[in-house]
Amino acid sequence: MMVVDTLIEARWVVPVVPAGLVLEDHAVAILDGAIVDIVPVALARERFSPRERIERPRHALIPGLINAHCHAAMTLMRGIADDLPLMNWLNDYIWPAEGALISAAYVNDGVELAVAEMLSGGITAVNDQYFFPEAAVEVYRRMGMRAAVGLILLEFPTPYARDADEYLSRGLALADQINGDPLVHACFAPHAPYTVSDDSFRKVRTYADQLGLRVHIHVHETAFEVEESRRVHNERPLARLKRLGFLGPDLTAVHMTQLTSAEIEELARHGVIVAHCPESNLKLASGFCPVGDLIKAGVRVAIGTDGAASNNDLDMFGEMRTAALLAKGVAGDPSVMDAATALHTATLGGARAIGLEDKIGSIEVGKRADLVAVDFGRVQLAPMYNALSHLVYAVSRRDVSDVWVDGRARVRDSVLLGVDHERLISNAARWAVQARTALRARGSVT
Ligand SMILES: [Zn+2]
Repeated sequence: MMVVDTLIEARWVVPVVPAGLVLEDHAVAILDGAIVDIVPVALARERFSPRERIERPRHALIPGLINAHCHAAMTLMRGIADDLPLMNWLNDYIWPAEGALISAAYVNDGVELAVAEMLSGGITAVNDQYFFPEAAVEVYRRMGMRAAVGLILLEFPTPYARDADEYLSRGLALADQINGDPLVHACFAPHAPYTVSDDSFRKVRTYADQLGLRVHIHVHETAFEVEESRRVHNERPLARLKRLGFLGPDLTAVHMTQLTSAEIEELARHGVIVAHCPESNLKLASGFCPVGDLIKAGVRVAIGTDGAASNNDLDMFGEMRTAALLAKGVAGDPSVMDAATALHTATLGGARAIGLEDKIGSIEVGKRADLVAVDFGRVQLAPMYNALSHLVYAVSRRDVSDVWVDGRARVRDSVLLGVDHERLISNAARWAVQARTALRARGSVT
C-alpha cells in the first residue's frame, strides 16, 4: 500500500482532459500537493493508504476554475457606479475613487475579500492586475490561492507610482522577489493600448523577453478605443501591438470585442490567448467578443470575470454559463461553445492564459491538486443525466462543497477555512464610506 496525503473518492470525476470524459466512482490520490493517481474507487482502496480519505458520494470532482482576468482589489468598488458607458464610468467614478483611496492597505483588504469570494466559489487561480501588487502577493500567499500577479503599468500617476518608469521599476523588484514561489508568479500588465505609450511598450517587451514573463493587457475592449487609436496612432490597437512585437503565445489579450476576420486569423497564427469577460462586456455594453469564430479559427480562449466594479461578482460558474449562452446567441448557433468546450475554456484555457498549462487546469497525474467538489445531490440539480451539462448550465457557485489548492483544503463542507468573514465585511464597509465621501467631495454622486 502506498501512503498518500489525501484520497478523494467522488461519484463523478471530470478531468477535462481527455475532452468530454466523465469518470464514475473514481478516486484521486494526492501526495505532496500533486495528483499521483486517478483510478476506480475499489482499486484505490487496495492501492493506497491515505492519511485522509474524503468521500463525496453525490459529488463531481473537477479542476479548479481559473479566473483569467480580474482586478481583485476592486471588490471594494462592487456596485460603486453602474449602468454607465466605460469611459464615463472610468473618468467620473473609478479613477477618482482610486486616486483618493488606493494604498497597500486598500489592496490588502480588497484582495482578501476577493480571495474569500473566489475560493468559496470554486476558483483556485486568478490572473490579477492592479496597483500595489506587492500587497496582493502577500494575501494570495497567506490565504493559499494561486495567482498570476500583474506588474501594472500606465502613463499617468496614481498613489502607487508617479510615471511609467516607476511602475516598471516597482514591478521588476516584485518579479525578482517572488521568482520561484510555489503559488504566485509575475506577469507584465501594461493596462491597455490607450494608457501606455510606444516607448513604455518597448521597455515591457524587452524585460518580458529577458525574464520570460507573460504579458496581460486589455485590448479592443470597445469600438471607441479602436477609433481613438486610429485617430491618434493611425492604426488599430492590435496592429500597434503587432508592430511593437507583442503578438505571440505569451500574450493574454483581454476583451477583444472588436475583431475583423483578418485579426482573428492573426490571433490564431500567433497563438495569442484571448481572455473573454462576457459579463463585464455586457454590463458596460462594450460589444461582443466573437467567441464562436475564435474557437473555429483555432484561437485559444479563456474566461475572466474582470473586476467586481464591472460585473459585479467574481463568479466563474456564472461567467462560464454566460460565456456559453452568449456565444450561441451571437453566432446564432446553439452548437457553438458546447458544455465540454465551456468547461475546458474555464479551466485549461485559463491555465494557458497564466502560463501554467503544464501544472494545473485539468485532473491529470503529475499536475498540482487544484480541485473542486460540486454537490450534485441538491434539489436544484436533480435529476442528473450529464455531468458536463450540469456543470455549465445548472450548477451555481453555492453548490461548491470543497476546494483544494496545491493539495491543501481551503473549503470544506462549503465553509472557507481559516477566514473571518465578519472582519472582511466590516473592512469593506469602512472603505465604502471613504469612497462615498471622496466621490461626493468631487461632485460625483453615489
Ligand atoms: Zn479589466
